[in-house]
Amino acid sequence: MGKIRVLDENLIKKIAAGEVVERPASVVKELVENAIDADAKRIRVAVHAGGKQSMVVTDDGMGIDREDIGLCVHRHATSKMSSATDLFKLDTLGFRGEALASIGAVSHLEIESRTGDAEEGTRLVVEGGVEREMHGIGRARGTTIAVRNLFFNTPVRRKFLRHIDTEARHVSQVMIHLAASYPAIGFELEHQGRNVLHCAPAEPLQRAADLLGIDRDELLPISRGGEDLTIQGALGKPEHCNRSKGKQFLVIRGRPIQSRAITQALQRGFGGLLPEERHPIFMLWLDMDPRKIDVNVHPTKREIRLADEAQVAQVIEGAVRQALRKPDAEGFIYDPTHVGFTPVDISEASPVACAGSGVSQSSAHLPITAPQPSDQLAFPLVPSTAMPRAGAPATPEDVEALREPSRLWQLHNRYILAEVADGLLLIDQQV
Ligand code: ADP
Ligand code: MG
Repeated sequence: MGKIRVLDENLIKKIAAGEVVERPASVVKELVENAIDADAKRIRVAVHAGGKQSMVVTDDGMGIDREDIGLCVHRHATSKMSSATDLFKLDTLGFRGEALASIGAVSHLEIESRTGDAEEGTRLVVEGGVEREMHGIGRARGTTIAVRNLFFNTPVRRKFLRHIDTEARHVSQVMIHLAASYPAIGFELEHQGRNVLHCAPAEPLQRAADLLGIDRDELLPISRGGEDLTIQGALGKPEHCNRSKGKQFLVIRGRPIQSRAITQALQRGFGGLLPEERHPIFMLWLDMDPRKIDVNVHPTKREIRLADEAQVAQVIEGAVRQALRKPDAEGFIYDPTHVGFTPVDISEASPVACAGSGVSQSSAHLPITAPQPSDQLAFPLVPSTAMPRAGAPATPEDVEALREPSRLWQLHNRYILAEVADGLLLIDQQV
């Protein structure tokens, strides 16, 4: 007897489910994306035990027809694509028709939905890929999908789920990124009955402020038009920068993405305004020709490839520089090139050339003190203490101060502090 057998349908579904459904957060992502595709204005997610017990997603979108509701849990059943060319249009988040079938194969799934013109709604119950019941119900327009006991029939996968807190954190990350991508939609997340995220439908800048956790007035808007690439969004000022990269949001055509090349470009755009090991906070929405984006590289579309990533990064770097210089960001501009010094090549016992300051090289030997263990000191000085003088040219007195070795300090081999008449002068050597 031959050894090759065709796998039975249920097993195939379970295997396919493994590609789409990794953990509760991936279920929430698929369900919320479906709600977004259905033009929902408000999406509510309620989760218990990090999603291991249950996830319920309710939307006020267009709903699913009675005829379609049984179909939507079948593999490759989708209302969003009918031909191969649709694959490249990217107008909807879903298009494979795999999510509901996959989720239904490894959980207890209940779908309740009503379209605007239907007299009553429909309820469908699926357990481990098997349809249990379907009947009419009364309900508001929109859809509610409940997923309980995820991986109940794939015990090994269930065992590999992490602690409730970890899974809950992944769920809120997913929600936060979707909320960043769709400012006009309201998002709510509840965990164990407790409100974790509440974003009312908002203007983009307000959504950025909500999620970055800073005042809208504190944000620097960034905007660049163009046929090939448009950039909209907001940057946090340098003083809001973070030790972690947790508040960096990049969205391309409604899809949250991660791109090292682009985040590094942003970092470069900030230049010397950011102390070392600090990261800018930002929310950027990019738009470009969909043919230059490949979202099809991963089943859950977490990875997006850009055809000209380096070029995009370069444009973004320029846009960031420009946003930091904008006159409407008053009181904030700190352009070290205006300070009047161009310290070059400062290393131990090397002379400093002070361009245009009239200080001759020979008179400007800097006393290089050993780096101080002053982590707290070095950073706040950059954005806040130095701010009142920011942008003002150095006065002759300032220059004078540099002649006097006892009034100069170097921090972390990077910043030079000078005591001057009305306060202190901070020079970032690298800038
Ligand atoms: P895809 O999103 O790739 O089409 P899914 O398995 O996620 O595949 O969904 C299958 C179909 O079910 C969708 O194409 C859509 O027609 C319908 N659907 C799923 N969720 C919703 C929802 N919340 N509102 C309206 N229709 C939905
Ligand atoms: Mg989908």
